[in-house]
Amino acid sequence: MKGIIFNIQRFAVHDGPGIRTLVFLKGCPLHCHWCCNPEGQKSEIELSYVINHCRLCGRCEAVCDQGAINIIEKRVLIRRDLCDLCGNCVENCLSGALKIVGKQVDVETVLDEVKRDEPFYRYSGGGLTVSGGEPTLQNNFLVELLKGAHQEGFNTAIETSGFCKWENIESILNIVDHFLFDVKHVSDEKHKMFTGVSNKIVLENLLRLIHKGVNVIVRVPLIPSFNCDEDDLRKIMSFLSEFLKKGSQIHLLPYHRFGLPKYDHIGDDNKMVLFEKINKSHIERATQIVNEFNFIANVGGS
Ligand code: SF4
Ligand code: SF4
Repeated sequence: MKGIIFNIQRFAVHDGPGIRTLVFLKGCPLHCHWCCNPEGQKSEIELSYVINHCRLCGRCEAVCDQGAINIIEKRVLIRRDLCDLCGNCVENCLSGALKIVGKQVDVETVLDEVKRDEPFYRYSGGGLTVSGGEPTLQNNFLVELLKGAHQEGFNTAIETSGFCKWENIESILNIVDHFLFDVKHVSDEKHKMFTGVSNKIVLENLLRLIHKGVNVIVRVPLIPSFNCDEDDLRKIMSFLSEFLKKGSQIHLLPYHRFGLPKYDHIGDDNKMVLFEKINKSHIERATQIVNEFNFIANVGGS
């Protein structure tokens, strides 16, 4: 069983309990305007170019049989429509400016990597968290990966947008210990406008999960001008209060711009929308509203 991943991050502490290994699966049906992992959106492998690392030596242009690379006006221009991702330019770039993002791997290879951190899981109560992109988009691979981790006795978690068929969620119910489930907005109109998809299926999946009694932690990305004003946050909390138990943790994930340069690296024209920077008062107000609804706010999700 093979899947496409774009990163494995070790020693993560904000994505489920304890010290965790994060495996990022490539591909996402959403296009959130604040996405900080744009390299996780496309399902296919991509070529990335970081101009600041480039010495303009011309080696990539010389080795590209497809004529996909031209150096014009002190910049490497990539014709992505001609590139067949052979990787010759990457191998020949001595400064590391070119990189292939995403690789096809089998479940055993990923599990071998995850097993390296077993002592940390035992010590901290951590385990494997599968993230993305949207991990359920590669559902067969996801199921095998989680099954393998569970067989090893590892704690498992998934970070999901919730935008998938219920059958996909159902297929992992018994092999996921923690669902970290994003609720971005309760207004369908705003959700569509800022993520490209309706929230209907997301909220339905969330309710079904809660009714199943599984361990769900709702995560709300705090995005100024999208869901950060009092009215929006109250609507989200009011919706959740009908289903979630009092005292449940709500993870608040403040917006940041760290992912901005990555859009340029992968040649994505859909630039991240620059929202207003988040400040202390946004976070304090959000925390207060969460607490007013008898939930426990956890900023950053650690
Ligand atoms: S091989 Fe690397 S350093 Fe040289 S021009 Fe190409 S991207 Fe730049
Ligand atoms: S990956 Fe291959 S085809 Fe694509 S730009 Fe590099 S050398 Fe050319």
